[in-house]
Amino acid sequence: MIQSNYMLQWTVLKLPEAEQRIHNSQQSTMTDVKNPYNEDDHSSQSSGSSSTTSTFSVDETKEKKPQSPRNKYPKISPRNMLRTLEIAEKNVQTKCPEEPKEKDIKKEEEEDKNKNVYVVSREFVEILSSATADKEDSESLGSEIDEIIDSPPVEKTNKLKNKLKELENVTLNIAITGMTGAGKSSFVNALRGLLNDDKDAAPTGTTETTMKPNMYPHPFMPNVKIWDLPGIGSPRFKAKKYLKDVNFHTYDFFLIVTSERFKENDIELARAIKKSKKLFYFVRTKIDNDIHAESNKRNFDERMLLETVREDCKANLLKVGIPKIFLVSSFNLGKYDFQKLINTLEDELPENKKFALIQSLPIYSLKALTKKKTYYKKMIWLNALAAGVGAIAPIPGLSLACDYGIMKKFFQQVFAGFGLSNQALEVLSERVNKPVEQLKAARTSRFKDGATEDIVIDMLSKPKIAIAKTLGTVMSMLPGGALPAGGTAVATVHYLLNMGLNEMAEDTKRVLSESQLA
Ligand code: GDP
Repeated sequence: MIQSNYMLQWTVLKLPEAEQRIHNSQQSTMTDVKNPYNEDDHSSQSSGSSSTTSTFSVDETKEKKPQSPRNKYPKISPRNMLRTLEIAEKNVQTKCPEEPKEKDIKKEEEEDKNKNVYVVSREFVEILSSATADKEDSESLGSEIDEIIDSPPVEKTNKLKNKLKELENVTLNIAITGMTGAGKSSFVNALRGLLNDDKDAAPTGTTETTMKPNMYPHPFMPNVKIWDLPGIGSPRFKAKKYLKDVNFHTYDFFLIVTSERFKENDIELARAIKKSKKLFYFVRTKIDNDIHAESNKRNFDERMLLETVREDCKANLLKVGIPKIFLVSSFNLGKYDFQKLINTLEDELPENKKFALIQSLPIYSLKALTKKKTYYKKMIWLNALAAGVGAIAPIPGLSLACDYGIMKKFFQQVFAGFGLSNQALEVLSERVNKPVEQLKAARTSRFKDGATEDIVIDMLSKPKIAIAKTLGTVMSMLPGGALPAGGTAVATVHYLLNMGLNEMAEDTKRVLSESQLA
């Protein structure tokens, strides 16, 4: 409720006014500007070189170069721009009135319309996206988020936060089924990023006696549940009864696993799943064993062998239409068809579910890292808008008002998702047979010990000069040169989330390189 008043009373900064103040004040130099939107640029501490998107003169003391045709916006010192922005932000804080009563909100909305108060809009988001040359995340703003941005200011923050919560609470139930001994439990463990002998791992190499599905929650995403279903080897197997017994409605998709040829029971089960309109895929496990067994033969060709196994499986499964078959080794998800399986699931699962799936996967290759990073990038706009639009609590010592708890949470998700925790590195160290201390030492960013509140506050207090560059560009592109209420916070959080994501991705690349996985 405070938000609406806050936004209504936000002092809108007009460009001519800002320019006037800026040109009157002393120009200053700027160093230490990073561009978090551009990975290539990321590692360099650019000093004086403007980012491709900036329209600012970065170092005013340097010899003036001829104006490039791209440089059509006014030159403004970032430091002065910041000062101006801070004055505007402070005005807001001093003007922020008492919490409004419920009945006043409707009236305020009306006034808002009449006064045409400028709030964060789709246009602002588009301009900020193009100013940061980050096409990837402007495209990621789905129609749902567009709708939220277009909604009235009083509703916007709540809607954004609810959308974040909704994504966090998405459940994904994955069923792993097949014959006993096919490698179901080992595949469950691999998907959870665990070794077969970890204390929380599904027991492997045992003879099943129970008809009950075993549920294994994902280590850091408890809403992602992987189910180890009972074996289907019995000669009296009845697929319909089996599906009823395991409560088939629970699962988003089924993986039918075998380590040999697919048999009659696999086919019967697939047909029954198809009838129940659920998704199913065939997984041929232990492919590393096949390769090992054949590799001593003369004329051994791994690609040919994989093709032969695939065709052999296909021939067996023609009764269920065009089967989707993936050859995997649970001991090395980075090889063979595991990535293809994920790509197929990405195409076939609903948006929210696929997001949960990708977020939950262990990082076993550079490709897996890139995919996961792309998904986190898609989340940045939602987080930045939720943290910045209409946020009222100023951070002690900072003039910027934003919900930094949202930032911390995002960074914690990325840290866990990139497998940077000590626990994840311990598993990796065993898997790749490298000392865990060596892998831990590969984390060199500020996030090396996790994403803490102190890191977020520190980030918020430092990069303001760099963000001012982007804001200046945005302002000069907006009609009337005015920044919307909350615009500084949204742009700053957007910038910092990209920066943190890139830093953690770099740590992960170093870990993969030390593990000889990249
Ligand atoms: P389940 O009975 O279907 O759950 O099968 P398990 O996961 O218990 O696996 C049976 C045996 O196969 C265990 O000794 C596993 O270590 C082994 N195994 C499972 N998956 C693989 C794999 O991808 N490659 C290799 N080489 N062995 C595997």
